[in-house]
Amino acid sequence: MTARIIDGKLIAEQVRGRVAEEAARVARDHGLTPGLAVVLVGHDPASEVYVRSKAKQTRAAGMTSFEHRLPADAAERDVLAQVDQLNRDPAVHGILVQLPLPKGLDSQRVIAAIDPAKDVDGLHPFNAGRLASGFDALTPCTPLGCIMLTKTVHADLTGLNAIVIGRSNLVGRPLLQLLLNENATVTIAHSRTRDLPALCRQADLVYAAVGRREMVRGDWIKPGATVIDVGINRIPGEGGKDRLVGDVAFAEAAAVAGAITPVPGGVGPMTVACLLVNTLRAACASRGLPPPAV
Ligand code: NDP
Repeated sequence: MTARIIDGKLIAEQVRGRVAEEAARVARDHGLTPGLAVVLVGHDPASEVYVRSKAKQTRAAGMTSFEHRLPADAAERDVLAQVDQLNRDPAVHGILVQLPLPKGLDSQRVIAAIDPAKDVDGLHPFNAGRLASGFDALTPCTPLGCIMLTKTVHADLTGLNAIVIGRSNLVGRPLLQLLLNENATVTIAHSRTRDLPALCRQADLVYAAVGRREMVRGDWIKPGATVIDVGINRIPGEGGKDRLVGDVAFAEAAAVAGAITPVPGGVGPMTVACLLVNTLRAACASRGLPPPAV
């Protein structure tokens, strides 16, 4: 193996540490305690785990965590009423509606009901539009984490060739915009792309956000490239315990790449860390304070 392993767990810990310092500073200097409210509808086991971990990390950073649970059969108007109440609550600076929502609820309508200034998931069309126009915006957490990880390898992304595989609103599209803002030259690929391996081989930066286990092979990677693997694919392991693998064939790619993120322990931990960053940013903006140095 030649690649340097990008330790997302450690980098996320450092980000959370900086958020905690800044949160303590705004509490001391401005009497402002950032608050994050998570809305969980139903009992999806994976969502329950994510929500618990978000609440724990929010409190550990010195911020207030609010949790609102609604039953799986909640009507859309009940979810919208909950969002509306949080929009008006001055102690809440960030609102996250845990996705996916149970069947029958329209996630687009629910997301559109969130005050864009509190949209710490960055999924509101207002924030997506601002990001796409090159303006300041609350940005989805996973792509933000991808950029932070990349910058531990390349301080400046100007002129680098990047490929983003996947065009979802959650990952691929905002990542494309963030890379453009960093002056990278970006190709975005998807299921209809022709000759993906050849396109990939031209990239200095490879982002795989597909949801297909080990799709990106070692011979797709340009020697020395930086590979950021967003994919989380669960494989049933021994003793009923799932094993996680990414969208990149790790061992093969690591033999060619210059730097690579592992799965788990790469992009995953950065997502919650960036949620805390966004909550702190939203809290500062609510008081007209300058963006925090995180
Ligand atoms: P989506 O299913 O919304 O999007 C997948 C994208 O991959 C689509 O744009 C699709 O193309 C594209 N695609 C599918 N098959 C191929 C193919 N054969 N070749 C090229 N492109 C293909 O997924 P998400 O963006 O939500 O998530 C992607 C992965 O990232 C998943 O594994 C998910 O679990 C993981 N994830 C990880 C997070 C983390 O914190 N680490 C957070 C969020 C997601 P098309 O548009 O044409 O259908």
